[in-house]
Amino acid sequence: MHELAIAQSIVEAVEAKAVECNAARVKSVRLKVGEASGIVGDSLAFSFEMLTSMAPVLTGAHLLIDSVPHRALCRRCDSEFAVVNYVALCPTCQEWSSEVVSGTELQIMELEIERNDNHA
Ligand SMILES: [Zn+2]
Repeated sequence: MHELAIAQSIVEAVEAKAVECNAARVKSVRLKVGEASGIVGDSLAFSFEMLTSMAPVLTGAHLLIDSVPHRALCRRCDSEFAVVNYVALCPTCQEWSSEVVSGTELQIMELEIERNDNHA
């Protein structure tokens, strides 16, 4: 399962960051997931929940997913268009030659953490 491996990497990165920030708990993690990244949001959320239940600092953390539309830029006429079902055909000039503008990303955008307030 593809999403499990991805969730594992995210959890590890978040845990490392939480330790670095001296966080008591991670409340939420916001991700940017492109439509063309091949990641199924529900599967990712499911895997994330399973993995965070085993990581004390991450227990109960919410996963927020911002979906990024798949868009491309035509190399011939320079128009930007939405790619539907991976068909990157320019609707203006019917040219297949295009560059992906967005939609393939997977990034951690934001972490909401609770800090350890005891300065003992
Ligand atoms: Zn075009």
